[in-house]
Amino acid sequence: MRHQGLVYGCRCSRRLLTGSVVYPGYCRDRGPSEQNPAHAVRIRAADTVIHFTDRLRGAIAHDLARQTGDFIVRRRDGVFAYHLATVVDDAAAGISEVLRGADLLDSTPRQIYLQRSLNLPTPAYCHTPILLDADGEKLSKQTLAAPVRDENPGATLCLLLRLLRQEPPADLHGAEPAEILGWAVNHWNITALSQVTAIAAEGGRESLSAPRNTPTSRRHAASALTAKR
Ligand SMILES: [Zn+2]
Repeated sequence: MRHQGLVYGCRCSRRLLTGSVVYPGYCRDRGPSEQNPAHAVRIRAADTVIHFTDRLRGAIAHDLARQTGDFIVRRRDGVFAYHLATVVDDAAAGISEVLRGADLLDSTPRQIYLQRSLNLPTPAYCHTPILLDADGEKLSKQTLAAPVRDENPGATLCLLLRLLRQEPPADLHGAEPAEILGWAVNHWNITALSQVTAIAAEGGRESLSAPRNTPTSRRHAASALTAKR
């Protein structure tokens, strides 16, 4: 990327960029060396529209220069940024299909642009709905969500399948996890998720998460197990 003149050093502070969604390009033509370790390294966003087809969401078009702008590929602390690391790792591992949460849909145009810049293949993409807690936050370690209930794995698996719009038969509810997973593999119907963007996982009759030791008000919110469309 350096040989192609695609990257440059960026000295902008976080404060300078506060409020900018798209990088304003301050360092684009200022020319500090991208090899200076004190600088972050950005890649120039080509004036191009990135097109790809998501298995669930269909055709997606993203105007890279106007919606994303030049983005960081190596951080100021020397660590390679998530997008570049992901693209290189996926290619090294021969990944052909990427299935991940819809919260990462915005990352895909940047990653496709990096794949093209590095002459790496672009995998097929499918972004699935994410599970939300009663406050509408993603169920994730990142948001300190409570762990999944583990006292009855079969019931948890069946609940997850129903949240994913699959229809496990009632007699499967007391079954062993291996049998439930076997059913899920044979009956998996991804098109059931095609109109679903997020799934409320908490607040219904059944809860996916283990109870917390310290009760919080969020546990009392009563939203149904319905998809937000
Ligand atoms: Zn800069």
